[in-house]
Amino acid sequence: MLTNIIEQVERAVLHMEPQRSVRFLNVSPPWAVERLQRGRFRRTLRLAAEASKFYREEFRRRGIDVRRVEHPSELGDFYTTGEDLRAHGAEAFLTGRADTAFETTGTTSPVPKRVFFSQREINEMGRASAIGLYLLGLRREDRVVSAFDCSFWVSPVVLRAGLQYLKCFHVEAGKIPPMEFYERARAYKPNVIFGEPSWVVRLSELARERGAWPLKFLYAGGENITEESRRAVEGVWGAPLYLNYGQTESFGVLGSECVQRDGYHRNDLFFFFETPEVDRDGYGELVYTTLVRDVMPLIRYRSTDVTRLIEEPCPCGLFAKRVAKVRARCDEMVVCGMGNVGPWVFEELLRGVRGVGADWQAIVRHDGLRDVIELHVELDHTSLRGEVERAVRAHLRERFADFWQNHEMRLYELRVEPGERGQLRAGRKLRRVVDERQMARRFAAR
Ligand SMILES: [Zn+2]
Repeated sequence: MLTNIIEQVERAVLHMEPQRSVRFLNVSPPWAVERLQRGRFRRTLRLAAEASKFYREEFRRRGIDVRRVEHPSELGDFYTTGEDLRAHGAEAFLTGRADTAFETTGTTSPVPKRVFFSQREINEMGRASAIGLYLLGLRREDRVVSAFDCSFWVSPVVLRAGLQYLKCFHVEAGKIPPMEFYERARAYKPNVIFGEPSWVVRLSELARERGAWPLKFLYAGGENITEESRRAVEGVWGAPLYLNYGQTESFGVLGSECVQRDGYHRNDLFFFFETPEVDRDGYGELVYTTLVRDVMPLIRYRSTDVTRLIEEPCPCGLFAKRVAKVRARCDEMVVCGMGNVGPWVFEELLRGVRGVGADWQAIVRHDGLRDVIELHVELDHTSLRGEVERAVRAHLRERFADFWQNHEMRLYELRVEPGERGQLRAGRKLRRVVDERQMARRFAAR
């Protein structure tokens, strides 16, 4: 009964003008959010168990009686994975009639994951996005041009749904070459630009050479960005670059940055977040359960992203708690002669190195007795190779005592492999760390 009342209030609040929603949500007590989450979790779980073939069969096989489950952690070692979506097909997860679908292509398989949604879900996500963008300062008088890729991708649809509540001018460029965007977008005098981080970096390089125009902010989603690249972009435009964190499976935004740019404020009204296994720094794989989806709910979905739940309040004062910036994808964590490494290690090695592009890739191979880590970078000039190699080695010594010690013990070899600009990235996502030893082993076992 109480949960129902809270739910009615929450729906009413989300349907207000964004500024009023934020005011209400900021004063709502934490217990009300928890209560709402639990009620929605129970409902989602029952719906999945009744109407979805995949969940019905899995729960039966594992002897899980969903009527007794009050909290995701009570499901033990039950999770839903991207592999489940691929192997069983999206249809096995459906619990209602879908109006649309999107796809996500990962870096581990060429088979896309398909995810289905209803128009109601689009509208709800749009309202939540509008609140997030309002907090970042987006207003009716602003002019938005988006370069989000429209091909099977969820982000442009979520953005459009959000902007219809904010009612600002909006042009959809699609993911066209940054040079073409630079020339064509200017005519609309945009003061807010949306795009994928690597695309935004490239656009900003062009703007640095040819001239930037006044922006309120830039907003990027779809992949990670180093803080160094972010600063470079912000320096060109004299405006902040905000990031969001989301997946197609989650229907876009799981969390969004605030003006502090220190972690993503998570959407606890729509998702239940967990990190079931964490390391000593509190980092672990993020697992989420959808709470307001009725076409294709996901129960304890393994995001494959390694991050940390931040419970401390943010200096910005917003009610919503945060998830930390994603450190790595699980498939990019590698244990090798260097140590336990992931993308953030190589980002640190390259931080402050002159003449290196934003794209890079580390490949771990086995060469006789030792692991060899090849750090592939894109250089402005091939003549910079020696300088880059020296800088990376110096950073290894200064910034990672343990990894340096292993290097001195010759447990591995670190090579810097230079290449030309643009050669590493083939698709939307660039796999940062590739363990070729695993691939070789898998091949041998076949
Ligand atoms: Zn904040």
